[in-house]
Amino acid sequence: MALSDGQLPWQWPKELEGKLRHDPETLSLASTDYGNIVHEKPLAVFYPSSIADISLLIKFSNSLPTPFTIAARGQAHSVDGQAMALNGVVVNMTELNNYRNGSGIVVSEKENYADVGGEQIWIDLLHAALQHGLTPLSWTDYLYLTVGGTLSNAGISGQTFLFGPQISNVHELDVITGKGDLVTCSAGNNSELFNAVLGGLGQFGIITRARIALGPAPTRANMNWLQAKWLRLVYRDFSAFSGDQEQLISLNGKSPDYLEGHLLLNKPPLDLSFYPPPDHPRISSLLTQDGILYILELAKYYDNHSHTIVDKEVEELLSGLKFVPTFKFERDVSYEDFLNRVPNEERALRSQARWDLPHPWLSMFVPKSRISDFDQGVLKDILLKQNLTAQGLELIFPINRNKWDDRMSAVTPDEDVFYAASLLQSSVIDHLEDLENQNNQILQFCKDSGIQVKLYLHKYKSQEEWMEHFGPKWKKFQQMKAEFDPRKLLSPGQEIFTN
Ligand SMILES: Cc1cc2nc3c(=O)[nH]c(=O)nc-3n(C[C@H](O)[C@H](O)[C@H](O)COP(=O)(O)OP(=O)(O)OC[C@H]3O[C@@H](n4cnc5c(N)ncnc54)[C@H](O)[C@@H]3O)c2cc1C
Repeated sequence: MALSDGQLPWQWPKELEGKLRHDPETLSLASTDYGNIVHEKPLAVFYPSSIADISLLIKFSNSLPTPFTIAARGQAHSVDGQAMALNGVVVNMTELNNYRNGSGIVVSEKENYADVGGEQIWIDLLHAALQHGLTPLSWTDYLYLTVGGTLSNAGISGQTFLFGPQISNVHELDVITGKGDLVTCSAGNNSELFNAVLGGLGQFGIITRARIALGPAPTRANMNWLQAKWLRLVYRDFSAFSGDQEQLISLNGKSPDYLEGHLLLNKPPLDLSFYPPPDHPRISSLLTQDGILYILELAKYYDNHSHTIVDKEVEELLSGLKFVPTFKFERDVSYEDFLNRVPNEERALRSQARWDLPHPWLSMFVPKSRISDFDQGVLKDILLKQNLTAQGLELIFPINRNKWDDRMSAVTPDEDVFYAASLLQSSVIDHLEDLENQNNQILQFCKDSGIQVKLYLHKYKSQEEWMEHFGPKWKKFQQMKAEFDPRKLLSPGQEIFTN
């Protein structure tokens, strides 16, 4: 049940009062997210006009006999209500843009980093860095996510095998802890807080600044030359597909710049827009025969220095790969268009009113040693056989674990290589329950078969499950909570300490 201001056993301090909104429209917006499944109403939404305001809010809550919870809300692209705060206060992080007055991103050309507000989105960081001939190294597939939001999870994409997740590419953070203290931390300074916050699901503090590592963008002279050769290779056989993926991510110094993979399932809507129209019939024909195809996707970047050799480099990368002969498709796009490839799909989905549908997504990390069992038991025996109507994308690609820092809070399977498997479905015909049942079935299959997956971007239903998820890291996670957010105020929507 939602509380109203009149029922509160406290009065808001004058400095905060004018920055809190309680109108139904604002509260309703703060009770939704991209998932559009969980809806939890806060008491108020806070519009900070400075970082000090956030600190004040947290300190005020700590001063109460029964404190209220506080959730930072970036772009609310969570799928399970993680940025919500039932009967608590949601902090509208994007409001800090006004406070920063356009200086939310400062690039150091000399030292190859950018200082970025936690509320800033990655596309803006890309634009700012490119102006200096620089670029972040590790990405998510979609760039309209906040820096604070992705660093609270890990931030993965097709560059993760090479540079690690986004959390492995951070030099320093400013964090307001759950006690309201503003602390600067890094691997060498306040390292416990630094490691706890990265992948820490918002449990220890609110990130207000991150110093992100940058590398040289391939050319400074003429941005138009900065290109990506973007390829898709079609496989009928899973072990050939995963074997080739694993080989490609193991090529030190000669690997692609990006590698992912996804499924093509024989059900509508079938999106073949990447492929030249004359090739659609032969792809569809294979798909009709097999029901499922595996698409290895890779990119190689090039610039005005390397454009003459990029074709040869790609040829070398592809030699010996076991995709279906002649089923190799390729495009040249600008570096920015490649990184920012999802908004085209977003526009199409929005135009069909499909962007705001419920999204019962299921993302997880699967140990390499069990990926064939996952293919048979999940992709073929559940997804393919049940063939539920849903718009979606099923990503599957390997990641090198040695690029992750095990001192950070993010959790991975305990194998040198593991797979990111993201089953990104939208409920197009109001059958959310069927899709949720399917997700439960998938998790049950993994459990029964002893496939030790780690969920990513999801919450577990009980603290016991969270303990199992964190495994040997749980004790530390708990200690860090007691140290930095002892009254358990922050990011209650993750339901780690509130259940
Ligand atoms: C279309 C789409 C594509 C995606 N693609 C990828 C992908 O390729 N790779 C990937 O790794 N993820 C991906 N995600 C997931 C995404 O990284 C997470 O959902 C992320 O949390 C979204 O950022 P946000 O700003 O929307 O965070 P929110 O949903 O607003 O917040 C997420 C959590 O972080 C906390 N939080 C928010 N801001 C801060 C802060 N400044 N400091 C501390 N805690 C904070 C919140 O309280 C909440 O618990 C995708 C999501 C969508 C919807």
